[in-house]
Parts: sequence; structure tokens; C-alpha cells
Amino acid sequence: MEKTKLCVIGDPVEHSLSPVIHNTVLDFLGLPFAYGRVQMRAADTAAFLRQAKQEGYGGFNATMPHKTALVELVDELEEDARLFRAVNTVVLRDGKSIGCNTDGDGFLQMLLERGFSPEGKTVTVLGAGGAARAVVLKLAQAGALRIFVCNRTVEKARELEREFTAQITALPFEAQVLRDCALFSDLMVNTTPMGMTNVAGQFDDLSFLDDLKQNALVCDLIYSPAETEFLRYAKEKGHPTANGLGMLIHQALFALEKFTGAEIDREAVLPAVEAELKKKMKA
Ligand code: NAP
Repeated sequence: MEKTKLCVIGDPVEHSLSPVIHNTVLDFLGLPFAYGRVQMRAADTAAFLRQAKQEGYGGFNATMPHKTALVELVDELEEDARLFRAVNTVVLRDGKSIGCNTDGDGFLQMLLERGFSPEGKTVTVLGAGGAARAVVLKLAQAGALRIFVCNRTVEKARELEREFTAQITALPFEAQVLRDCALFSDLMVNTTPMGMTNVAGQFDDLSFLDDLKQNALVCDLIYSPAETEFLRYAKEKGHPTANGLGMLIHQALFALEKFTGAEIDREAVLPAVEAELKKKMKA
């Protein structure tokens, strides 16, 4: 039987882990889809969307720099994509394109897997870029009591504050502010690229983590390296930690459910996905 095409588009896209995750699950479940990768310049997003419809694609994922442009290009938008102002998953069905965003659900699922429910909790989020938007708004939807968003450009954090005024507080990214937030936080999440492989820039000072509430969970959206300085410092202080791999895997599984209509048993597929990713990341 001919397989329905799926892919990830991006620029760059050669290091994307999406094909490994998706194809491992598709093989494991015996679903008739094949997932590839397509290098695509920002100027070509609209043309690719038309081409994908014509070629009978079941859908595609989008990474930088296509996520924002797709908001205006798809025929319909799901609620999270509208709220996050970004599309990471396009489902093509009956000649229509539906823009979705599974990043927030992926993040939330990773937290739940760690036994952390945001309801009634205080959270500090470092950064207010695209990924932070999904994380912060999903935490607010999931009932977090207070979310401190600390960002270098505080106006960007204020944009988030305007969405959920009662729960979100915009703050500057300053040592004393981070310390004060840490005192009350059950969860601290780094959504900045500081500490990422091949990205210049590290935290000048991580001692704000000394003031973090006991047993607070510390997450980094970065998964390469597997342990950033930020996570290492938190771990040394005795905090449970999680890198960005869980979010990456879960956002992919939510996307795959949308593409295929299948309900994925996460416990069944995760060992196979993790084993394949381990091989790939070592290579
Ligand atoms: P982005 O839109 O460019 O936002 C980056 C944020 O980090 C901005 O708020 C920026 O502050 C802040 N920042 C950057 N350099 C900084 C520095 N030196 N000091 C203080 N703040 C700094 O990027 P993004 O798309 O949100 O991605 C952020 C990170 O999340 C990346 O590492 C990405 O790989 C990761 N990510 C992971 C997943 C996953 O599934 N695990 C998914 C998406 C993203 P300003 O506003 O002041 O510029």
C-alpha cells in the first residue's frame, strides 16, 4: 500500500529529530505513513502548503522560520495555534489545511509524566519568546496560580501578561528579581537559548537557584546538551530536573495523533522512541 506523506519543514532542518520520532512510532504502530524532512526557505512557506495539498500529504510539522507565517496561511486555526500565534503542525484533510500547535500540550504532558500538576502552583519562566508563549499560556490554562515571566525585554513579557492578567506577572530578567521569584516557585523553566549547543551565551550567575523552594522542579527546554549548566546547578542543589526532550517527544506524539487519527499509547511507544533518539544523538 502506498504510504501517505508527512514531513517537517524548516531552515535549517537537517538536525531535526522529528523524522526519527515520527517514523519510530509509525513503524511501531504499523501505520501507513512515511515522514521525511524538507529544507524550505521562509519565502517558500505558502508555495509548499499548496504543493503539499496537491501531492496528497497528510500534513506536516513546521519549525523555524515557518511557524508564524503559517498562522496567516492555513484555512483554519485550532485554539492553541491562535493563542500562541504560531503553527507547529498542519493537518491536511479534505482539501483543507488546519493549523495546530502541540508545543504547549507537549510541555504539559512532560510535566504530568514527572508527577507535576500546575494547578495552584507558582511558576517562574525565564524568557518570553515563541516557546515561552506556549509554555506560559498552557500553564495559565492548566490552572497555575501565579506565573512570573522574567525577560530581558520586559515588554515581551507584558504581552503575555495581557493575555492572562490575573495569573501572569511580567518582570525584568535581573538577578534580584530572579532570586525573589525563586523563593516562591514550585517550578522554574528556562525557555531562553542560553546554554544550548552552538549558541553563544550562558547565564552570568546561577546563584538565584540557591533560593529556590525546596523540591521545586527545574526544567530547561534545551535538549542538546542533555544537561545544561542551568540544570546541572539545580541538580547539585538537590532539585529534580527535566530537559527539553520530553516536550519534544510529546509534541510530536500529539501531532502524530492529529495526522493519523490514531490514539497513541504513550507508555507502549516511549521506550522505542527513546532508544532510537539515543542512537541518533550519539551519532
Ligand atoms: P526566541 O523566540 O528567540 O526567544 C528567546 C528568548 O530568550 C527571548 O525571550 C530572549 O529575550 C531570551 N534570551 C535570548 N538570549 C538571552 C540572553 N543572552 N539573556 C537573557 N535572555 C535571553 O526562541 P524560542 O523559539 O522561544 O526558543 C527558545 C529555546 O527553546 C531554544 O533553546 C529552543 O531550542 C527551545 N525550544 C525547545 C522546544 C522543545 O520541544 N524542547 C520547543 C521549542 C523551543 P529577548 O526577548 O530580550 O530577546
